[in-house]
Amino acid sequence: MKNLAIFGGNPVRREFLPYARHWIDREDIKAVREVLASNWITTGPKVEEFEDAFKKYTGSKFAIAVNSGTAALDLSLFSLDIGRGDEVITTPLTFCATADAICYQGARPVFVDIVEDTLNIDPKEILKKIGPRTRAIIPVDIAGQPSDMDEIMDIARRFGITVVEDAAHSLGAKIGNRKVGQVAHLTTFSFHAVKNMTTAEGGMVVTSEEALYNKIRRARYFGLDRTSQERHGSGGGWVYEKTCLGRKSNMSDICASLGISQLKKVNRFLARRRYYASLYKKRLKEIDEVITPEEKMGVTHSWHLYIIKLRLDKLRCTRDEMFRALRYENIGVNVHYKPLHLHRYYQKRFGYKRGDFPIAEKCFDSILTLPLFPAMRKNDVEDVIKAIKKVCNYYRKR
Ligand SMILES: *Cc1c(COP(=O)(O)O)cnc(C)c1O
Repeated sequence: MKNLAIFGGNPVRREFLPYARHWIDREDIKAVREVLASNWITTGPKVEEFEDAFKKYTGSKFAIAVNSGTAALDLSLFSLDIGRGDEVITTPLTFCATADAICYQGARPVFVDIVEDTLNIDPKEILKKIGPRTRAIIPVDIAGQPSDMDEIMDIARRFGITVVEDAAHSLGAKIGNRKVGQVAHLTTFSFHAVKNMTTAEGGMVVTSEEALYNKIRRARYFGLDRTSQERHGSGGGWVYEKTCLGRKSNMSDICASLGISQLKKVNRFLARRRYYASLYKKRLKEIDEVITPEEKMGVTHSWHLYIIKLRLDKLRCTRDEMFRALRYENIGVNVHYKPLHLHRYYQKRFGYKRGDFPIAEKCFDSILTLPLFPAMRKNDVEDVIKAIKKVCNYYRKR
């Protein structure tokens, strides 16, 4: 019986395997170097080129590149004139950026519980929480599995509210034949280093509504009516007018050049993610203590994260003990996410407490994110399986 590394035994791997890692190749570096050597490095022609390519990829009408996924959410809600006294419905099982974007407007994040098998927001729970102050819904496509968008869009139409889809995980995912980006009123993406493609830091809003597009484009750079690019050159003037209190959320041409280059490869990245997800599924079947994630009928998952659930009834350990044991085996497992209503900030500010969202809490106790990224190898997956078997053997109830 092999000793667990946490108790002094040899780890399954010598080198730590992270849960995610960016993949930058020579073409990416060449693209960035060209912009660095040019005479325009901030928001300019590369940002426009990236927006055009992104529109084509997602099949959306308008796209606005920004400097983070959080800024994309912030500007989307800003464009809807959401403010003090307003409520925005979202899921507690998400990264804090989703709820913080609501707080930035002075509005209240109204959490509703999730569906156990997908970890996404439950449309039935949304219906229970819609009130006269509800202005928008932000479904989050957790792990890359699209939310129940048809039902959510129906609810939104009935009550005259707007849907902002947080697609930070789901670039390239599909609902039927429609790519994520074609369904909600506004869809936001993140290009943080661990996401499906990267600009180091960056984000994008897509929409089919021209008025929202114009508002977001202007607000992205202080709410000025003319950009520095438009004022540049011998024909340009210095004059600009401030039209609103905007943000400083524009993307640089350096980041955009990386985005253009990464977007060309994103389908290859997604195919590798899908392959490793299927390999995990096959290999994890042998382990009774693990429940694997399912791709729902009628959607295409983008496999940004591979989140398993532990059968705690069959184990003599908690998720956190399993987490620590696997980390000692040099497997970079992670947890996505601690539900937001269990964080002190939202509890103090909005009065949330443990017990408010029982399904999110139950899922939180058993979820574990396994390493998944396009640059990983088959052997890495085998190491993860080996480590999970080793740790489960030790903690199995007998
Ligand atoms: C990454 C992420 C964001 C924020 O994106 P940034 O680019 O890091 O600002 C928002 N929502 C979710 C669900 C995310 O995973």
